[in-house]
Amino acid sequence: MQFTYTDERFADLQLLRYRVDGFEALDLRQKKLVYYLSEAALAGRDILWDQNGRYNLEIRHMLETVYTRYEGDKTCPDYQAFVTYIKRVWFANGIHHHYGCNKFVPGFSEAFLGEALRSIGMWEQYAHLMPVVFDPAVMPKRVNQAEGEDLLQTSACNYYGEDVTQEEAEQYYNSMKDPRDPHPVMYGMNSRLEHDADGRLVERTWRSGGLYGEKIDRIIGWLNKAREVAESAQQQKVIDLLVDFYRTGDLKTFDAYTIEWVKDTEGMVDFTNGFTEVYGDPLGLKASWEGYVNFVDTVATERTRKLSEAAQWFEDHSPVAPQYKKKACRGVSAKVIKAAMLGGDLYPASAIGINLPNSNWVRAEHGSKSVTIGNLTEAYSKAARGSGMREEFVADADTIRLLEAYDDVCDDLHTDLHECLGHGSGQLMPGVDPDALKAYGSTIEEARADLFGLYYIADKKLVEMGLTPNEDAYKAQYYSYMLNGLMTQLVRIEPGHVIEESHMRNRALIARWCLERAEGAMRMERREGKTYVVIQDYDKLRQLVAELLAEVQRIKSEGDYEAARHLVETYAVCVDADLHEEVLGRYKALDLAPYKGFINPVYTPVMDERGEITDIRIAYDEAYDAQMLRYGRDY
Ligand code: ZN
Repeated sequence: MQFTYTDERFADLQLLRYRVDGFEALDLRQKKLVYYLSEAALAGRDILWDQNGRYNLEIRHMLETVYTRYEGDKTCPDYQAFVTYIKRVWFANGIHHHYGCNKFVPGFSEAFLGEALRSIGMWEQYAHLMPVVFDPAVMPKRVNQAEGEDLLQTSACNYYGEDVTQEEAEQYYNSMKDPRDPHPVMYGMNSRLEHDADGRLVERTWRSGGLYGEKIDRIIGWLNKAREVAESAQQQKVIDLLVDFYRTGDLKTFDAYTIEWVKDTEGMVDFTNGFTEVYGDPLGLKASWEGYVNFVDTVATERTRKLSEAAQWFEDHSPVAPQYKKKACRGVSAKVIKAAMLGGDLYPASAIGINLPNSNWVRAEHGSKSVTIGNLTEAYSKAARGSGMREEFVADADTIRLLEAYDDVCDDLHTDLHECLGHGSGQLMPGVDPDALKAYGSTIEEARADLFGLYYIADKKLVEMGLTPNEDAYKAQYYSYMLNGLMTQLVRIEPGHVIEESHMRNRALIARWCLERAEGAMRMERREGKTYVVIQDYDKLRQLVAELLAEVQRIKSEGDYEAARHLVETYAVCVDADLHEEVLGRYKALDLAPYKGFINPVYTPVMDERGEITDIRIAYDEAYDAQMLRYGRDY
């Protein structure tokens, strides 16, 4: 069968496929391990749907029922728009955009959906959902970050009871924190906060026998099968602790699990499964469910091994003030991996680099595991070839040649530097609350990691280490980074909206801060009605990167909330309406999708007469809608 990287395209989305080369070469035990962990990675899907909004699961059932049973005219515009809508909802794991967080506006009428439901006898069951789908005033945003509003009351995510206010929730969790505790758990990470019958705030914990208990029991079942074919005693210990955490919901057990997980670096196959990232909660406390399975890409891993072995050199030579540097940089293990399965909040849209765990003290005392997902970045760059973006936006032919020569290698390397070194660098001053930067924390943290990567990608050291081909290659990364932060990432934002997502805010922050101080080293130039980013002095740009890195690390180390707020609000949020319109127009003419996500491969066990698994087959031919319907049915 012919493999193609690009698949369906609709709305602002492009679906891709990733190759899991090397799976066939794993031994049977490893294949079984991948298979069982993959089932565990899919089994928690509905948890995420519910976390993203309290009506999401019901709405998905309604849409899937119509999709599979509707027998009316399928050529009419209403039905076509309905198909686009369900595909967008599948992609976003709910009714809000996965990146922008705004509620989707259906392109079909309420009357059409009403008729469709009546024609299959399901109207009574679903009539109450119509305002949620159609009324723009009902649950307009999944995560609202607008300063000055009650972020819980104005966000549709389902991590708090409907009547819980931001002030109440912040008080509740602040009172739990003990500033003298050197090993604080991630308070509130695995529960929904709501009022009980007497109006008192209580946490409903996500665990076996608690909220999401049934799904969690299924995850536990697959994890226990994986345990039987684990690669080492250490990996079994990791699985046991995770199962124990899922059974009890005890956050101390969660920390113990992550500590053992960090130590487990010997085997081929690895995974994460559980409540992980906090971007979906406006207060940054509650973690969305995700799962993924991977195995080592041995060739590319050599590259990041070199970086992490030199971690202390990078820390010592960074432009950060000495008191904010980590004295003993350790445990930053770095691997390039191949994703074998994506689940929960990593599906279909996925990160391309992952650095866990998130607990500050666990990272400081035990290190972290950092990975670049090589087969996903490969799919992205294969799909981007021939898109016409460079020809349209890059300032001149010389720069296009620079990007063609070095952008791929530098992009991978920047991701490695960001994940392996950037997030693990620096230290907090004694007594500084790790959450001191509150809503600005995620943006500042991403900026810190990106700046660390930008600073070092231009360093001679990388040429000496054989990681960059020569002393000019980094310019490709500088150019594409600044172009993205100043212009091209705006294609992901709707007219009239501001920048909300923390990775995008971070890129805008860095690029605009540098532009403002560049004094001709970098400028925006207008030619024949089109704006271009022109970079004349890359050395000077690197000096600015160094200056900003030092300041951002200071802000993080000292928990300087005011300075974080000022930086983010000044450089990272607002959008120049004229430039935005121009970028959108030029982008539209290229007819490309700004967001991409992945269709998973399908693993099928081959059994002998006795029901023993003798092999696991992998296939790449499942259609997007078939995969979504199957997941809805089976998980
Ligand atoms: Zn990051």
